[in-house]
Amino acid sequence: MKRLIAFILKDVDNENETKKVAVLMRILCLLFSAFFLVQAIAFLFYDNYLTAILNFISIIAYMVGFALTYRGHTEATRRFITFFTLFWTILYVVAVGWNSGAQHFLMVLLVFFCMTSYTALFIKGLFSVFICFCRLCLYYYCKRFEPLIPLTSQEETTLQLVNTIACFTALTGLVLLFTKDSMEMERKLINYNKRIELLANADPLTGLPNRRSMTNRIEADIRHAEKYGGFINLAIGDIDFFKKVNDTYGHAAGDSLLKSLAKIFMESTVGRGECARWGGEEFLFLLPDMNGDDAQSFLDDLRHKIKHTEFSCEGNLIHITMTFGLEEWGMGQTYDQTIEAADAKLYYGKSHGRNMVVF
Ligand code: GH3
Ligand code: MG
Ligand code: MG
Repeated sequence: MKRLIAFILKDVDNENETKKVAVLMRILCLLFSAFFLVQAIAFLFYDNYLTAILNFISIIAYMVGFALTYRGHTEATRRFITFFTLFWTILYVVAVGWNSGAQHFLMVLLVFFCMTSYTALFIKGLFSVFICFCRLCLYYYCKRFEPLIPLTSQEETTLQLVNTIACFTALTGLVLLFTKDSMEMERKLINYNKRIELLANADPLTGLPNRRSMTNRIEADIRHAEKYGGFINLAIGDIDFFKKVNDTYGHAAGDSLLKSLAKIFMESTVGRGECARWGGEEFLFLLPDMNGDDAQSFLDDLRHKIKHTEFSCEGNLIHITMTFGLEEWGMGQTYDQTIEAADAKLYYGKSHGRNMVVF
């Protein structure tokens, strides 16, 4: 079985021909061969030898088409399948009648032609019109004339069953094979875009939102507050004497500390607001839905927590403190003005002993 699958999936010799189309034609040839074999057996069973012979001839024709795909004749096989399928479908309906359901193969043919051919859309459209015309002609022909080979009701039912199943199998196979790759590609692209978007909005070291993403969020919150009212607090937090941490324990330890600190900020702001990495060792806090006093008390708790946390960085246990400058946004203010005011308060804290929240 594995060898058969490998044989069907074998690449084409010609560099300018796609493997997918060749594989699809091989599958279709095998499917049609199996289809004619089932019918040949059924007709032999009903002692209808002439029709059985015609079925065997069709099997041979499709096997020739199958073999041609290995000889670098994909295009020839495509044409052969198109015309031969069209030929026998018309012959089939004329011979055994509309109730055989063979006319449905015209739909399979149309899908096959449109999916495997690289011709212009106009040609494909023309082919569609032609197939539609053939089907209508067959319909009116069958309405006027009796089938050449009259079938019993039982034979008709068997044919309708076999043809319906064969048509649906062929259509499903065609569509699945052709949509598999594009859907996979689409899924990959969606994931890739999500990753790109995430990277564009996040700080690579800490995973916190970056300045760009935070600015967008603040602007949106301000627009909302201007329309519906509400509090917006902005605070800048800066690590005290962080340069000393780098100088004493190394830059890697400093990085590790920033990551651990970011984790604390993420956890603390869940449901309360958002924290972004604003600059090197500066973090911006957006605290909506609370007044300035509540924001101050929130930041003071955070300041305490940081002061009493022992950061384990690259084998060193480090203690740090932070200073915060907090400003409540007021109606008519731009976010820049609020941040500037918060920054001024931060520098006030830096020059007045650090490790504090200035409001
Ligand atoms: P202050 O209390 O006045 O804020 O003192 P400070 O030492 O924290 O401030 P200063 O602005 O003098 O130094 C900030 C330091 O932060 C210098 C810089 O090397 C460090 N820093 C900035 N970004 C990073 C980073 O991504 N990783 C590491 N390890 N260090 C960083
Ligand atoms: Mg600092
Ligand atoms: Mg700083």
